[in-house]
Amino acid sequence: MVKINNYLEKIMKKTRERNKGEQEFHQAVREVLETLEPVLEKKPEYRKAGIVERLIEPERQIVFRVPWMDDQGQTRINRGFRVEFNSALGPYKGGLRFHPSVYSGIIKFLGFEQTFKNALTGRPLGGGKGGSDFNPKGKSREEVMRFCQSFMTELYRHIGEKTDIPAGDIGVGGREIGFLFGQYKRITNRFEAGVLTGKGIDWGGSLVRTEATGYGLIYIVEEMLQDNDNSLSGKEIVISGSGNVAIYAAEKALELGARVTAMSDSDGFVHDPEGINLAAIKEIKEEKRNRISEYTDMHPRASYHPESSEIWTIDCDIALPCATQNELDEKSAQSLVENGVLAIGEGANMPSTPEAIELFVNHDIHFAPAKAANAGGVATSALEMTQNGMWDSWSFERVDEKLQRIMKDIYKLISATARKYNMEGNLPAGANIASFEKVADAMLDQGVV
Ligand code: GLU
Repeated sequence: MVKINNYLEKIMKKTRERNKGEQEFHQAVREVLETLEPVLEKKPEYRKAGIVERLIEPERQIVFRVPWMDDQGQTRINRGFRVEFNSALGPYKGGLRFHPSVYSGIIKFLGFEQTFKNALTGRPLGGGKGGSDFNPKGKSREEVMRFCQSFMTELYRHIGEKTDIPAGDIGVGGREIGFLFGQYKRITNRFEAGVLTGKGIDWGGSLVRTEATGYGLIYIVEEMLQDNDNSLSGKEIVISGSGNVAIYAAEKALELGARVTAMSDSDGFVHDPEGINLAAIKEIKEEKRNRISEYTDMHPRASYHPESSEIWTIDCDIALPCATQNELDEKSAQSLVENGVLAIGEGANMPSTPEAIELFVNHDIHFAPAKAANAGGVATSALEMTQNGMWDSWSFERVDEKLQRIMKDIYKLISATARKYNMEGNLPAGANIASFEKVADAMLDQGVV
């Protein structure tokens, strides 16, 4: 663990006391605090104005009951959350996660990360996150719809295109956004397109939004490699996950001449040394909503391994953790380093543990941290909101070009910031500091609120 000064250590202690048992939130806060010392020294106003203390306390937290009826007529209860973390730069913005692991600690860590990530996009977005411990696995379409309608029946009063704009995350894709939007419209009698992002293309959605997080990840990784006189062309890539982020990261990586040799889901991973057939993964995951193990029925040359975390033992040039938080620990990082990994790009939110990040940074592995590397999704949400505000819709090429520009600018900003603070190449520090400065300066401008 990196040492921090007394002032920051006190803030850390308070965070743990105030948010008991919320380990993921403590971890996300600690990771940011570890990089802030030089900024706070340079600008003492931040400390005087209590910027760090305010940043770690969400502006508003909403917890609610979500009752719904299953297909057998049995009433079920889940817990819903929306944490409106910070609105210094714009309205709260961030996705909704439906997964059984969801509790306040997960939503808070995600909302905290989102505040910094959104700042890096350069768009006027605050940070927020929400979700539920509802498990969509094994539920029928009708059950998911009833759940979404009940969830929105409470959430609608807290959100709005100028207040708080949810989107998808794990367990919430285009289908769920449709059900949520339908219920919002029905309750409010308003076709307020800008209240949710990730909408269908014919009713206010943006082209490229589906692909954006994965594409954005590859754009920034390519930028990072090119800055170091290298490129994705001809590289072997291991990608964990097989959801939206993983699939479109794989698609863009293949387009740029790389080979994806392994992908996973929460049960296990498939290894196909000849190169994964992405069409087969899309069919299994997007169309059939089945398990990745089915891949070997279609491609007997591939092997299936029933332990997802073992995916990091596969020899590769580039590793892209795109599944979930803390999926890549120190042991996995060790085996990647031993196998000579060149670069890491975090597609998921906080996928690497602090020990893993330390190991990568100490070994000078090119490391694109989540806040920057997966910002393409929310950046394209901002582009969707812009189109909604203009009553317009743009071509695929136009949105994609803007996304590429945004990812390049993020890379430039975080690498220049790392350099400015004498930590050349330390992109996690560059991302934390650059985004902190943006949010903190806006908070200074706006007074004690
Ligand atoms: N859930 C995504 C993220 O973690 C997207 C959020 C959004 O588009 O608002 O950034």
